[in-house]
Amino acid sequence: MCGIVGYCGVAPASKILLEGLKRLEYRGYDSAGICVEEKSDFKVIKRKGKIKDLKEIVPDGLPGSTGIGHTRWATHGEVNDRNAHPHMDDTGKVVLVHNGIIENYQGIKKRLLDEGHTFQSDTDSEIIAHLIASLYQGDLEEAVRQTAFLLKGTYGIAVMHKDEPGTIVGIRNGSPLVLGIGEHEMFLASDVTAILSHTKQVIYLEDKELVKVTADSYKTSDFNSNEIRKTIENIGWELEQIEKGGFESFMEKEIYEQPESILRAIQGRIDRDGATAHLGGLNMTPRQLLNIKRISIVAAGTSYYAGMVGAFLLESIARIPATTELASEVRYKNPVVEPDTLYFAVSQSGETADTLYAMRELQRKGARVLGICNVVGSTIARESDGGVYIHSGPEIAVASTKAFTSQISVFYLLTLLLARMRHLSFEEGLRIVDALEKVPEMIKTILASSKHIRELARKYSRYTNFLFLGRGLNYSVAMEGALKLKEISYIHAEGYSAAEIKHGPIALINEETPSLFLVPNDKLRDKVINNMKEVKARAGKVIAVAIEGDQEVEAIADDVIWIPSSNPVVYPYLMVIPLQLFAFYTALELDRNVDQPRNLAKSVTVE
Ligand code: GLU
Repeated sequence: MCGIVGYCGVAPASKILLEGLKRLEYRGYDSAGICVEEKSDFKVIKRKGKIKDLKEIVPDGLPGSTGIGHTRWATHGEVNDRNAHPHMDDTGKVVLVHNGIIENYQGIKKRLLDEGHTFQSDTDSEIIAHLIASLYQGDLEEAVRQTAFLLKGTYGIAVMHKDEPGTIVGIRNGSPLVLGIGEHEMFLASDVTAILSHTKQVIYLEDKELVKVTADSYKTSDFNSNEIRKTIENIGWELEQIEKGGFESFMEKEIYEQPESILRAIQGRIDRDGATAHLGGLNMTPRQLLNIKRISIVAAGTSYYAGMVGAFLLESIARIPATTELASEVRYKNPVVEPDTLYFAVSQSGETADTLYAMRELQRKGARVLGICNVVGSTIARESDGGVYIHSGPEIAVASTKAFTSQISVFYLLTLLLARMRHLSFEEGLRIVDALEKVPEMIKTILASSKHIRELARKYSRYTNFLFLGRGLNYSVAMEGALKLKEISYIHAEGYSAAEIKHGPIALINEETPSLFLVPNDKLRDKVINNMKEVKARAGKVIAVAIEGDQEVEAIADDVIWIPSSNPVVYPYLMVIPLQLFAFYTALELDRNVDQPRNLAKSVTVE
């Protein structure tokens, strides 16, 4: 689930490991630890809490230039020092860090206990160290491979053995692992951000692959001991891109980056001459695209809401029946795959376990699944049958903002492409292109009015329940707005179709439950205004996000956040920005950790 860093080289390993772990902090974690090898001895230092707590107990100048580090997000065994990684076997020969879950660990642990093994932790991970130690016959790589055959579940592992100083073996199955290649030094990490300050030359391991590294060599192989020659990739992201760039938090930086990140998503993909879009990575011929009868989007969390915007666009504009489903549910319903349905798996990290497993299940049934991901080379990006990168750059804050607007950008492009192949006229297509191209500038004007949103956040932060209400294209935006507020301020918020409140949620309305309405100036405006009146009639406070100059809304609502008037088709972009800012400022008011909200992790790589 969380982070792995490994280092073999000439520099002090502890420094590099701690720095790498620090860079992985954004993923969310509950404990951290390192193990450094010095003269065939292992020094394990680990504890519950933050990297800065760990740093306090790592001696300055700790010798040793080979080591492994870990940030844990507990799945088995409570959060405490003992359960933090690295874990050793009971002879002290093997030490490892593990991301993921070993599903059959109980059976293995029982057998090992019967054989007389003793355990130090309650984790599933520790059994792996015991297995490797018992299978070791002078070759760590082989012992790890043998162990892998016994494990069921997901893992990214970095492991060292006392008899093989200066060596780390990494293995992946379902949890990401990347090798970084330096000069007389090698790095292992679960995420390139951990090692980007040292090298940009990387090799992504695939599932069921191993790598053995020393300071000057690496060897990649599969579970059958076949050596595999992998291509070295060059990472385009700069470290400065990852750092906060002058903002107090990553989330704020990422909200403000959206004019650029949206541009990155659409740039070069819009074809004004044809009033359509080019999406090269789809790997589909025009004829195949024309034969699509249905689109199904699978995703989780914010990506799911982006998918809902996508499905609405595809159905209403491209006239292709489209639905969005929760990846976690798709997998277990034995989904029916029809030959002319095109599937999309949407995930910022490209590692979201629920989405990945749903995609694999659909592919097993013969589906063509295209990925919409941010992280290049991520598992979904690699295993999908094609897809589109959103190119939003690294998103570090746990609560997604710029990935959402970039994901919907891809759906706008896709809609244009598919709609123009069908009935959408050149003129209508061009109107959408024009509207899309103006979005970044319009977002800038909304961001420039953030002071007002901050004041509203101050005014409303004492409330403990909110309703977020929208209709049509903006219904999913209301859901996303509620999710944002929940995630980072811990205030309870429900996203609903404004039409739906009369079927239940209106019972919640009183002076203590404010409602945030999204009011476009399209055919649904009057209906949403009626819903607003229903809330006002029940003493509910109303905040409206409305189109500049809408006096009727101004007269009804307690407070209004104005957004510029535009082609209503692009309102999801313009509506979501104020909601992101509202959640962000509310969380600040309440003194929350906006970048790393409690209980959440950035990329949810467990089911
Ligand atoms: N399942 C392991 C544990 O609970 C690893 C969790 C992780 O991936 O951080 O310790």
